[in-house]
Amino acid sequence: MWQAEVQIDLGAITSNIALLASGTSAQVMAVVKGDGYGHGAVPSARAALAGGATWLGVCTLGEAFELREAGLTTPTMAWLWMPGQPVASAIKQDIDLGVSSIGHLKAVIDAARETGQPARIHLKIDTGLSRSGATPADWPTLVEAAARAQKEGLVKAIGVWSHFVYADEPGHETIDRQLDVFHDGLEIAKRHGLDPQLRHIANSAATLTRPDTHFDLVRPGVASYGLSPVEGQSFGLRPAMTARAQAMLVKRIPQGQGISYGHTYFTAAQANVVLVPLGYADGVPRHASSSGPVQINGKRYKVSGRVCMDQFVVDVGDAQVTEGDEVILFGTGEHGEPTADDWARACGTINYEIVTRFGSARVPRTYV
Ligand SMILES: *Cc1c(COP(=O)(O)O)cnc(C)c1O
Repeated sequence: MWQAEVQIDLGAITSNIALLASGTSAQVMAVVKGDGYGHGAVPSARAALAGGATWLGVCTLGEAFELREAGLTTPTMAWLWMPGQPVASAIKQDIDLGVSSIGHLKAVIDAARETGQPARIHLKIDTGLSRSGATPADWPTLVEAAARAQKEGLVKAIGVWSHFVYADEPGHETIDRQLDVFHDGLEIAKRHGLDPQLRHIANSAATLTRPDTHFDLVRPGVASYGLSPVEGQSFGLRPAMTARAQAMLVKRIPQGQGISYGHTYFTAAQANVVLVPLGYADGVPRHASSSGPVQINGKRYKVSGRVCMDQFVVDVGDAQVTEGDEVILFGTGEHGEPTADDWARACGTINYEIVTRFGSARVPRTYV
């Protein structure tokens, strides 16, 4: 019997992907980085493929290898790696690589020579996020070098891609500006003889709100897990994760009693307090101290006082709570329970971070 668990509704992931796929003629790459945003990379990937995804996207080579080790042969792309890592192994396992610089291209070319197999690459142009990707100034040089390597049979330039700054605000002026830079980048690639079959730039928000950004492939992450990337709009997505625990201990404490480290919370009256066996080691943000919402026996309460590493306390006043009763931190919201969005608001963060944090090894994940 669990004392705390994260429950994942894989059917929700499948139906979210199906919903996203139905709204586009582009292929869908399900992004399963960060251990599937805390939902488990491999089961999430399988659920996404069942919903119509034809690609998987991850950051690190290690994440890509994990998918291959699990027997997933779906086209997979990894975009956050560096020279010196096992690039040859990635090529042998048909893992597509994002390439942002001449240095990365050289590493890919060396690895292709070593394996005798061309590397499948996606050239990234930085259209304004200033994260990875070649700047528009460096782009022509990168494209030219990639075209040369392609002629020599060392790489296959499968894709040209980028990433948005502000897609969560569908009308934001940066979107059009980035699209202009992207189109210019594609034109330059074409002029150098590259004809990438996959042009891609859309994350969840752009997939849901800007069809003009879909090109050949979309890369939804957070929406696959049923969370909205746009404040105040749900798009019919179904949250896949529920985080819950059992009331581990219930006791009566006096009025004016401080609770948890630093006594940042005091009871207003004599109260029943519930000890919940989840803390920041499990993914509960410490910023949820005296603000994170929970539901116990159908009623809403808040974390009372500081969140500790392993536990927190909830003042439920005179409510009768029995040890073993279910404490729901967040779920779909269909039964009045808080959602990951409610937690994000309470902690001053985004829903992405809330679910991703709950990937800790200590909390068992159950799949339904
Ligand atoms: C994480 C990530 C995505 C998915 O973003 P969401 O906002 O979760 O849809 C897509 N592309 C890249 C490059 C990413 O790093």
